[in-house]
Parts: sequence; structure tokens; C-alpha cells
Amino acid sequence: MRDLRRKRVLVAGGAGFLGSHLCERLLTEGHDVLCVDNFFTGSRANVLPLLANPRFEVMRHDICFPLHLEVDEIYNFACPASPLHYQADPIQTTKTSVLGAIHLLELARRMRCKIFQASTSEVYGDPHLHPQLESYWGNVNPIGERSCYDEGKRCAETLFFDSWRKEKVPIKVARIFNTYGPRMHPNDGRVVSNFIVQALLGHPLTVYGEGTQTRSFCYVDDLIEVVLRFMKAPEHITGPINIGNPAEFQVIDLAREVLRLTGSRSTIVYKPLPSDDPRQRRPDIQRAKELLGWEPRIALEEGLKATILYFEGALSGGALTVNECV
Ligand code: NAD
Ligand code: UDP
Repeated sequence: MRDLRRKRVLVAGGAGFLGSHLCERLLTEGHDVLCVDNFFTGSRANVLPLLANPRFEVMRHDICFPLHLEVDEIYNFACPASPLHYQADPIQTTKTSVLGAIHLLELARRMRCKIFQASTSEVYGDPHLHPQLESYWGNVNPIGERSCYDEGKRCAETLFFDSWRKEKVPIKVARIFNTYGPRMHPNDGRVVSNFIVQALLGHPLTVYGEGTQTRSFCYVDDLIEVVLRFMKAPEHITGPINIGNPAEFQVIDLAREVLRLTGSRSTIVYKPLPSDDPRQRRPDIQRAKELLGWEPRIALEEGLKATILYFEGALSGGALTVNECV
């Protein structure tokens, strides 16, 4: 007989960077966790230590197709998140966001269970409002190279809010700003993993444009904490809620900080700025503070040190391979 106090939690995208941290934390809280992933960017290695736990299961499945399961809660983290990967097969990226949302919302409607959507700061595009508030509708190119991701995530938000309004599905929509930490993929092209791996290997750090564009970097532990708080919040708290660290840095300063913390003698090289690359990004997190009593605790230096340690171990242990993109 199943312990009814224990929730059966579905984590779509659970073998990815954020999803694997979420699975780990949910297991620590005593739940049964089913990780559903097609392993496009995620890996078994990310969840390997969890496989020994009898309350953890992994299912290979593409969320572009329907699922029929018995679950009590759903988290949707399935979608490649780095520009390099989501642009590799842009139509599949849009399908993952849109069809994935349709199928998971259908499951949530059938099970009458809460569903969390990992949305993104990209819904604001290249913002004219700074810092970004949830009420801002964004400045998004619908036909550019980032559109498969940005517009897919915007459409997913539409599906979530229509399911809430029309079918009373209990939704939680979080707009996640750049998050980093251990288990980022070394080749996925994101700035924190790129710079750290480049610095550790003694390769030049690739700054795109002049490096004056800004981002705000949230450490993964802070992010998982607020995701869980949001899911536990009362049903009328649907979001969207910005989650991220409001400390804002220029990309060039991040490069210098990584060089300082690694002690690397790598040089910095400048490469062309990718198209539609947002010039500035910083979350207004007032809503998360008021509704969820949350604000990030881990400063960039501390989070970078932990991430550097992870990549040092992974690179020296041969667990990770690095290709030409870094
Ligand atoms: P990630 O690429 O490490 O993880 C995504 C996971 O989804 C991978 O395991 C991948 O294999 C899986 N996946 C992709 N398409 C799928 C499909 N069709 N069916 C099933 N599984 C599929 O990326 P991440 O950084 O962990 O991001 C997780 C989620 O958070 C994404 O939805 C992303 O858009 C969102 N997000 C992340 C950030 C960030 O900074 N990391 C920022 C904003 C939003
Ligand atoms: N970036 C960079 N060098 C890299 C990777 C990224 O200068 O090797 C820049 C990129 O152009 C962007 C910022 O860093 O301005 C953040 O990029 P990332 O891909 O991590 O996230 P996103 O653009 O989706 O916020």
C-alpha cells in the first residue's frame, strides 16, 4: 500500500541541469519522483546517483507526445535552454514548448494536480523596461533565431493561463533568469559554463560583442528553493513570477571574475554578438519576495567557486568531454 502522504511527482526534463537538482531535492523531501526525459541535452550521468533510490524512476519519453500516468504534481523543465542547443533543431524546440505544454496540461487536468512551468526571462526579449517586471509584455522578435525558444515559451504561458481560466488547472508559472551551477553541460554554450571550462583548459575566453551586455546570474540552490516554495504556495498564486538574482553584471566582468577565481592565464578574445542577443537583463523580484518570502542568498563569487570546483572535478575525472565550441 502506497504511503498517501508521499507525493508522486513528475519532473519533465529531470535529467537536465535544473531538473536533476529538482529531482534530488524532491527525493530529499521524501517524495516519489518520476523523471521523464528524451535525453536531448540531459544525461543519465546527471541522475546516476539518484538511481539507487527506490523512490526514483526514469522514463525516456518525448513530451511532444501524450503521457498517461498517475501523478500528484508536475514540474515542466523539459526544453533545451542554451541558444546553441535550442537553435540546433528550432522546430523541435517550438514543439517541445507548445506540444509539451498541451500534453502536460492535459495530464494535470485529468489528475486535477498542480503543474509548474519553467518559463524564462526570454519572454521579455530585448527589453525596453529595465529591470524587468512581470507586467511588462516584452520586445520579442517573432521570426529571429531565438524565436523558437522565446515564442515557444510565450505560447506555453498562454496555454497555462487559458487552462487556469477555462479549466481551473492549478498552474505555477515562473520566469527563470540565467541560472548556473554544477551539472551545467560543458558544451552547451552558455556563458558561465563556457568561461569556466575555457579558463580551466587554458583556452581563450570567448566574449561576444564588446561584453557590455548584462545578465543577472542565480545559483542553482537558490533557484530550486524558490521553485519548491512556489509549488507549495496557495492555489491563487499562479504567477507569472520572476525568479533570479537581481545582481547585474556585464559579460566582460564575468569573464574577469572567472579568470580571477580560477587563477587561469587564459586570454580574452572577442567574437561577433549573436543575433537578437538581449543587451540587458535583470529581474525585478519584488513579487517573489512578497508572495513567496524568497530572495537569493548566494552571491556570484560563492556560486562561481562551487561551480568551478564541480568542473575541475568533472574535467580531471574524465567524466566530461569538451568539443570545439569551448
Ligand atoms: P537543460 O538543457 O540542461 O535541461 C533540459 C532537459 O529537458 C534535458 O534533460 C533535455 O534532455 C530535456 N528535454 C528537451 N526536450 C525534451 C522533450 N521534447 N521531451 C522530454 N525531455 C526533453 O536545461 P536547463 O538549464 O536545466 O533548463 C531547464 C528548463 O528551465 C528549461 O525549460 C529552460 O527553458 C528553463 N530555463 C532555464 C534557465 C537557465 O538559466 N538554466 C533560464 C530560464 C529558463
Ligand atoms: N556569451 C559570451 N560568450 C560565450 C557565451 C555567451 O559572451 O561564450 C554572452 C552571450 O552573447 C549573452 C550572455 O553571454 O550576451 C549570456 O549568454 P547565455 O547563452 O549564457 O544566455 P542567454 O543569452 O540565453 O541569456
